[in-house]
Amino acid sequence: MHPGTYEYLSAESVDHALDLLVDHPDAELLAGGHSLLPAITNEAADPDVVVDISEIDAIRGIEVTDDVVEIGAVTTYAELQDAARLRDAATAVAEAVSVIGDEQVRNRGTIGGNLAHPVRVSDLSAAIIASDATIVTVGPHSERRIAAADFFAPNPATDLAADELLTTVEIPASTGETGGAYVKQQSVTMRYSLLGVAARMTVEGDRVSAIRVAANGVTERGVGLEPVEDTLRGERLDGDTIETAASRALDGIDTEAMIDDDQASAAYRADLLPTYTEQALETAAERAGVDVPA
Ligand SMILES: Cc1cc2nc3c(=O)[nH]c(=O)nc-3n(C[C@H](O)[C@H](O)[C@H](O)COP(=O)(O)OP(=O)(O)OC[C@H]3O[C@@H](n4cnc5c(N)ncnc54)[C@H](O)[C@@H]3O)c2cc1C
Repeated sequence: MHPGTYEYLSAESVDHALDLLVDHPDAELLAGGHSLLPAITNEAADPDVVVDISEIDAIRGIEVTDDVVEIGAVTTYAELQDAARLRDAATAVAEAVSVIGDEQVRNRGTIGGNLAHPVRVSDLSAAIIASDATIVTVGPHSERRIAAADFFAPNPATDLAADELLTTVEIPASTGETGGAYVKQQSVTMRYSLLGVAARMTVEGDRVSAIRVAANGVTERGVGLEPVEDTLRGERLDGDTIETAASRALDGIDTEAMIDDDQASAAYRADLLPTYTEQALETAAERAGVDVPA
């Protein structure tokens, strides 16, 4: 393998990065490098120019207020994993980053790189959809705010343009009555997720007042499990209710579009999905303070 040569440019600010993208329309952005550099090494990518955005301080770090968690795009998984505030305010995302790859991947990989370049089994896609996140991007002339469910939907209108930078991920902050969870079956050979399910549940009294559930490793991109949500919303929680809701995880998923590859057949993924959905729901309920009767 002989990686090509490219010009390396380091961006000092978001505006500088956007200017460099205008000057070099075929440039690739470099954040953590854990998708781009293997692609260059394998000759799947051959950019003439690489624009490094990893040193832009304005898009690094985590801000937590009462209402919202703001995460800068070049914040690494390790920085997210170590942020105790994130574990309380956006539990599913904190749990998802803590099980990505290994320590080396988590030390370099960034939330923005993961979302901008979504490998089809990205752990973050489910967690970001279930957390009702908003993806903020800037281009040369405008800013866009894209709901996570739309961002992952197969819709060219929400795809990132080549001259656009993902800058921030905003997540509504959890309250005491909200619990989140991310559970994953890891691929034995790749360490990527074979399948993962994220849930975020708010309970008022003993009833579910808000619920979001999403999965990765089922179809090409993360997908919301609306039938599960519809079954639980407004219900009083017990083991049967959760099991019934989880059993509907495959409803609404186009089985023809399910991932069927060397790692796992579509049938195996279909078997795993309700089980992992049930686990995610039980853990989210527990973290929302519910003692779920069997
Ligand atoms: C051994 C290994 C194991 C892994 N395991 C997992 C796993 O278990 N789960 C998982 O989810 N992922 C896994 N990954 C993928 C890893 O999380 C990558 O780090 C991630 O997909 C890309 O993030 P990055 O910051 O490294 O992006 P980079 O590789 O730097 O960038 C990739 C591309 O994304 C785009 N990009 C990056 N940042 C931005 C931005 N802010 N705005 C616009 N475009 C941008 C650019 O096109 C860039 O070329 C693994 C990778 C490796 C090598």
